[in-house]
Amino acid sequence: TTKGAYEPLTESTAIKLAKELNFFKEGSLLSCHEIGDGNLNLVFHIVDENNTGIIIKQALPYAKVVGESWPLTLHRATIEGNYLKKAASLVPNLVPKVYYTNEALAITIMEDLSHLEIARSGFIKGKDYPLLSLHIGEYLAKTLFFTSDFGLNQQEKKKLQQLFVNPELCKITEDLVFTDPFFDSETNDFEPELLSSIEDLWADQTLKREVAKLKLKFLTNGEALLHGDLHTGSIFANEIDTKVIDPEFAFFGPIGFDIGQFFANILFQSLTRTSENRKMVTNHLHQAWDSFVKTFTQLWNNHSVEAFTKTPGYIEHVFSETFKSAIGFAGCEIIRRTIGLSHVADLDSIFPDEERIFIKQKALSLGKKLILKAEEIQSTTDIEKLLEQVL
Ligand code: ADP
Ligand code: MG
Ligand code: MG
Ligand code: MG
Repeated sequence: TTKGAYEPLTESTAIKLAKELNFFKEGSLLSCHEIGDGNLNLVFHIVDENNTGIIIKQALPYAKVVGESWPLTLHRATIEGNYLKKAASLVPNLVPKVYYTNEALAITIMEDLSHLEIARSGFIKGKDYPLLSLHIGEYLAKTLFFTSDFGLNQQEKKKLQQLFVNPELCKITEDLVFTDPFFDSETNDFEPELLSSIEDLWADQTLKREVAKLKLKFLTNGEALLHGDLHTGSIFANEIDTKVIDPEFAFFGPIGFDIGQFFANILFQSLTRTSENRKMVTNHLHQAWDSFVKTFTQLWNNHSVEAFTKTPGYIEHVFSETFKSAIGFAGCEIIRRTIGLSHVADLDSIFPDEERIFIKQKALSLGKKLILKAEEIQSTTDIEKLLEQVL
C-alpha cells in the first residue's frame, strides 16, 4: 500500500494514494501534475475528467539551497496541517479545507484552489484584488486574537503551543531574515552593483542594534500563533475570495510579525508600480491595518478572557506596540528579500538590469528607514509618506 512509511510521491503514486483514500469515484479518469516549485515541498494537483480536483502537498526531508541539500524536518507537514485545522475553526472562509493528513507520509490533502491566482503573480501582472487586504486584516485579527492570551484561556494557550514547536523552520527565519542579510554571509545573493549600499548597511551599528532587538522579539515573544510566512506568494485570491496557504513556518511568536511580512510584500509591489497604478496597491496597507484593528477591537470587546484587558488605554498600547514591531519586521523582510537568499519575483522579474537595480536600491533604502524610524511611524499613512520619500 501507498500509506506505509515515508517515501516521496510521484505523479503516479499520488494518483494511487488518492484512489486508495477514495477521493474519486471508481473508474474516474485521473491526471496528476506536480505544480510546486520544488525547493522544500512537492505539490500534486490531481483532477478527474470533470476537472474536479484535490491538492496533495508533501514535505521533502531536505531543502534545496544554493545547489546543496540541507536536511529539514518532515514534522513541518504536521505543523501545516494542524495550523490549517486551527485556522478552519477561526477563519473557515480564508483557508483551504483540509481533507486528510498523514504524519508518516508528511502529507496534507486539501481543497483545490486552482480557480484562484497567487496574489503575487496577479499583482506582478498589474492586477488588483480589492478585497484582499480587508480579508487579510480579518484573518490576522481572528487567528492572532484567538490564539493569544487575550482571547484564549492561558492554560489552553500553553497546551496549544505544544503543537507548534517548530525550531528548524524558526531557525530559517532567524538566519535568513534577521541575521545573514546584515553581514557578509555566504547565503546572501545580490547584484554586484548593490555592493556599496550593502556595505553601508553592514556598517550601520544603529541599524544592526534595532535588528538585534527585532530578532530577540521574534525569538522570545510567544504572543500568538503566527502563520510565519505570510507573503503574497502564500495568498490565493480573485475579486471576491482570499485564501491563505503554506503555514509550515507556524509557531508562537510576536503578533507584529505576520502583519509586517504582509506590509513588506505590499510595499514590494508599490515600489514597482508607476505613480498612477501605485495607489491601489498602497491602499492595501491602510485597508489591512484598519480591518485588523476593527476586527481585533470587536473581538477584544466581546471575547476577552480577562477583565483587566478592558482597562482604558490598554488596547491602544497593544496596537501601538504591535504596529511598531510590524514596521520593524517589514523593514527586515524588505532587506532580506532584496539581498538575502530568498528573493521575490516582484523585484527579480524587473528588466532591464539597470531598472531592477535602481528599484532594489530604493527597496534597501525603504527597508532601512522602516527599521530606523519604527518609533516615529504612527500610521499606514506615515508608511506611505516614507515610500514617497524613497521613490
Ligand atoms: P511551498 O511551501 O513549497 O512554497 P506552497 O504551499 O506555497 O508550497 O505551494 C506551492 C505552489 O503550489 C503554490 O504557489 C500554488 O501554485 C500551488 N498550490 C499550493 N496549494 C494549492 C492549493 N490548495 N490549490 C491549488 N494550488 C496550490
Ligand atoms: Mg513555493
Ligand atoms: Mg512553504
Ligand atoms: Mg509557498
